Amino acid sequence: MRALRRQFLRGDFYGIGMPVRPPWALREPQFVERCTRCDACRTACPTRIIVRGQDGFPRADFARGECTFCGDCVQACEAAALRREAGAAWSVKAGIGAACIALKPVVCRSCGDACETRAIRFKLRPGGVAAPNIEIDTCTGCGACYGVCPVGAIAMRHGETEVTA
Ligand code: SF4
Ligand code: SF4
Ligand code: SF4
Repeated sequence: MRALRRQFLRGDFYGIGMPVRPPWALREPQFVERCTRCDACRTACPTRIIVRGQDGFPRADFARGECTFCGDCVQACEAAALRREAGAAWSVKAGIGAACIALKPVVCRSCGDACETRAIRFKLRPGGVAAPNIEIDTCTGCGACYGVCPVGAIAMRHGETEVTA
């Protein structure tokens, strides 16, 4: 937990040695032990956000779209490296970086418009332009905001909640 918090605070978005696995993945050491690199989760994903990493293990790529938490990847995983009973889907959260043009300030609300859970709230700043703020507890880490940001200011990172096994 402490390591994840440190990564979050220093902007180590994916965490050292911690790529974003498909949702409901076991803890990393158990995941890589169980996963057979069969690609079944990747082919099952309707939004195509699961890609094959260089090491052959699957990881999420939010540049391709968002996770709808449909669970198709879990169903497809015969090795049970992804398990619904693992608890929360994942620890991933969105974070807004300094490149955000609303901080410049230029009017932009694209990420807020894309967020179904309304985790992104805009607060008026001096100068009359509202800047986004993400409520971490409400963010599901779906990634819908990631691709719509015109300047790539959003990063998807492991939050403070650990993926449980
Ligand atoms: S839950 Fe559904 S949308 Fe999300 S990664 Fe798995 S298959 Fe893809
Ligand atoms: S990752 Fe999803 S829930 Fe979180 S802020 Fe972005 S759109 Fe909203
Ligand atoms: S979409 Fe990007 S630039 Fe626009 S408000 Fe959100 S983070 Fe800022």
